[in-house]
Amino acid sequence: MNTKKWFLLLVLFAFFNVQAFPQAKDMISKIVIDAGHGGDDPGAVGSRGKEKDVNLAVALEVGKLISQNCPDVSVFYTRKTDVFIPLYNRSKIANDKHADLFISIHCNSSDSKSANGVETFVMGLHKTASNLEVAKKENAAMLLEKDYKNKYGDFNPNSPESYVIFSLYSNAYLESSVQLASKVQKNLLKCTHFRDRQVQQAGFWVLHKVAMPSILIELGFISNKTEEDFLLNPSSQKALATSICNAFIEYKNQVEGGNTALITAPAVTSGKSDEPTPAPSESANSLRPVDDTSESTPALATTGIVYKVQIFASPENLGKNDPKYLGLEGVEKYQEGNLWKYTLGNEKKFADVQVVLKKAKTKFPDAFIIAFQDGKKIPVTEARKLTE
Ligand SMILES: [Zn+2]
Repeated sequence: MNTKKWFLLLVLFAFFNVQAFPQAKDMISKIVIDAGHGGDDPGAVGSRGKEKDVNLAVALEVGKLISQNCPDVSVFYTRKTDVFIPLYNRSKIANDKHADLFISIHCNSSDSKSANGVETFVMGLHKTASNLEVAKKENAAMLLEKDYKNKYGDFNPNSPESYVIFSLYSNAYLESSVQLASKVQKNLLKCTHFRDRQVQQAGFWVLHKVAMPSILIELGFISNKTEEDFLLNPSSQKALATSICNAFIEYKNQVEGGNTALITAPAVTSGKSDEPTPAPSESANSLRPVDDTSESTPALATTGIVYKVQIFASPENLGKNDPKYLGLEGVEKYQEGNLWKYTLGNEKKFADVQVVLKKAKTKFPDAFIIAFQDGKKIPVTEARKLTE
């Protein structure tokens, strides 16, 4: 083959690699930091301060720390001043920069003054009413845009029905996003000693539109007096930023196999929640943190070679007949890392699993075949060598 043909082949390969199989990159060289709200949109308002100001202070500090400690990383911001940026533009900035990560920084609020705690979101369909409320509040920023109907179509941030579009959302970056979110959540808890509301999923427009691993952080409740005091305190804003930067470094080290040193958190004058409340019921639905090994992966109770079809993966542990199975019966699941993998079929022969795949693809076009040997996942090619 001549050089020209080789080049063409290479271009084609690169094209399909990017288009058909979007994957988190193995180098982290660009990050977009998104300070939520701004300008005419104050975000949540506390008794003394506004969410937009806390978000910006922490975002700028995170960017500064990343630039100082990871000189190989380019840091971009969706805003560096107190200006209104449409949700639509925030994700566009990240996509135009071809960033490797997107981190959106927010503060939570609630009508209940006692609501408290830190939570980190990844994109997905909410599992609980309280997660839907967080997404509604953050998506409501789009209503401040004059031509909102043109940009967001029929999506109404206040209508639960609008969120149905997120139920079919299959995110190629989910696993990476959960990895980063778990590290951020762990570091923020160490810094704040706030209640652990854990890593959660909900439909945030800004995350929905970015083509890279992405998270949305709710630093704490600005509607809670104790947490507001902490969030408005410049020394704790630096500590929060340090925690996020350290989580970023941990993630980057993991992805790249590097060993960039973590930074020391500055002392925080005060801020511990004095009245820790019991964990809410939704914690049962939360995503499993990366470092939580308390519940190990159950081995599949199968012997010999078994083929299955994976229809989708989700951080959520779904029950029998969940609507997300789109009416398919006999869906089984197993846990791998942070994700539950949902499967169809238990076939001894490759020809039989191909029939299952055909059926699965009518509802889940991205479904694919996986194989197990004595309950342990093995490459399908290896399984076929053993069965044929
Ligand atoms: Zn917000």
